Amino acid sequence: MSNNPKEIRNVVIVGSGPSGWTAAIYLSRANLSPVVYAGAQVGGQLTTTTEVENFPGFPEGRDGPELMADMETQAKRYGTEVIYEEIEAIDVNSKPFTLKAGGGAEIKAHAIIICTGASPKLLGLPGEKTFWSRGVHTCAVCDGGFYRGKTVAVVGGGDSATEEATYLAKLTDKVYLIHRRSELRASKIMAERVLKNPKIEPVWDTVVEDVGGDLSGKFPRTTHLKVKNIKNNKANDLAVDAMFIAIGHTPNTKFLDGILTTDENGYLIVNDAQETNVEGVYAAGDVHDHVYRQAITAAGYGCKAALEVERYLTRKGLV
Ligand code: NAP
Repeated sequence: MSNNPKEIRNVVIVGSGPSGWTAAIYLSRANLSPVVYAGAQVGGQLTTTTEVENFPGFPEGRDGPELMADMETQAKRYGTEVIYEEIEAIDVNSKPFTLKAGGGAEIKAHAIIICTGASPKLLGLPGEKTFWSRGVHTCAVCDGGFYRGKTVAVVGGGDSATEEATYLAKLTDKVYLIHRRSELRASKIMAERVLKNPKIEPVWDTVVEDVGGDLSGKFPRTTHLKVKNIKNNKANDLAVDAMFIAIGHTPNTKFLDGILTTDENGYLIVNDAQETNVEGVYAAGDVHDHVYRQAITAAGYGCKAALEVERYLTRKGLV
């Protein structure tokens, strides 16, 4: 960071997933000297997955943390400044904008791109950590391919759960759809599709109490879920190779304290130029997109936001 705290930065990127790094690559290559505040989880959600098999350009797949580290290196190569702190608050009432960093610094910037992503909600079970990425997952498109011909469970009853179950049914032999109630919350068409699918077996009125498996090998391996029917209190072990938790995501917008417009679930609302309701403040990736939620789409939104920031700074005569 510059020694001069009064210096106004062209653009601060908040967050370091695929959208943040992509925006940084484009903006640094445009000589706009972006600053990335990398946050608590440098690299974002992809650092919690093992193999990424659907990011184009890697026919053999790519280790998630390595892919993110490469994006960071690429952004730095062109002059991106990276600060390994969180942004705790932003003030957009006057221009330049002010950002407050976790370390106490105040940064002034002409433009901001929010790339803070979303976090999948978890069940809070002890086994979630033990078997994370080894039978406990939150993204079927990312990790379903590891369970071809196997038996898996999806937890949840909304559109995400039905979408995950339908996707997994194409790859696996059997999918249990475990829901805590006896009817799905999902839209009618998605619910009907799931209930008609012969590979998907709903497990109603049931909660998962823990994940069990084999810890004797090099890596943990999930073998079953401890489930309980909440109507009759009967508990049993359900043999599965993996569990996909699909009980929703939480967009990481809390630090914005309501100053930018969101939908009812907290996702930022952006226009076609990735701009939020505040001119000069942009968003990219899962923090606004709850539909596609892929690394490649997040990267695409990051690119779009960067190009729009470049246009904005030029239009306003700020660079
Ligand atoms: P959601 O609609 O909030 O559904 C979450 C589901 O998880 C609910 O069935 C809920 O049970 C269950 N659940 C929540 N916490 C739980 C817990 N601790 N233990 C067990 N079950 C739990 O979330 P979503 O499915 O992710 O959808 C979010 C939004 O994105 C929705 O607006 C949805 O329409 C949209 N979306 C759309 C598509 C699409 O159109 N292709 C795909 C995905 C998502 P209860 O039902 O009992 O509350």
